[in-house]
Amino acid sequence: MSLLKKSRIYSPWLYHLHCGGCNGCDIEILAALSPRFDVERFGIQLVASPRHADILLITGPMPKQILPMAKRVYEQVPDPKVVVAIGSCACGGGIFYDPENYAILGTPDSLMPIDVYIPGCPPKPEAIINGIVQGILKLSKKS
Ligand code: SF4
Repeated sequence: MSLLKKSRIYSPWLYHLHCGGCNGCDIEILAALSPRFDVERFGIQLVASPRHADILLITGPMPKQILPMAKRVYEQVPDPKVVVAIGSCACGGGIFYDPENYAILGTPDSLMPIDVYIPGCPPKPEAIINGIVQGILKLSKKS
C-alpha cells in the first residue's frame, strides 16, 4: 500500500457542505465528531477547506440557488474523493421535496455522484460514523 493511500485511509479528512434543510443533520454531525465518540483516534476530522478533504459530507435538500457553489466545492475536493449524503433531505429531498417545487433539486446525485446514502431525519451519530466508515472503504477501493 502506498504512503498516499495509507494516509487517506488512516486519516480521512471531512468537509461538510450544508445545502439547506433544518440543521438537524448538521447538529448530529457535530455530535458524531464530539469527544463522546472520539473519531479523531481514527484520524477522522473536519477541515475548513474542501481542498484538504477526502470525504465530502452533504446535508439538506439542495436548493437550486446554491447549485453552482455546491458544484464548485465538489470540484475542489481532490481525487480520489467520496461523497456521503447525510439525512433524508440529502438522500431524496425529505420533507422539502415536491416535484412541483421549482426551488429544490431534492438530491445532489444529478450534480455529483453520491457514494454513500445515510437515511434518517436526522440519522443518529452512530449511523453517520457507520456511513463515514463505508465512505473510507470506498475511498480505499478508489485509491
Ligand atoms: S433530514 Fe430531517 S433533520 Fe436532516 S436536514 Fe432534513 S429535515 Fe432536517
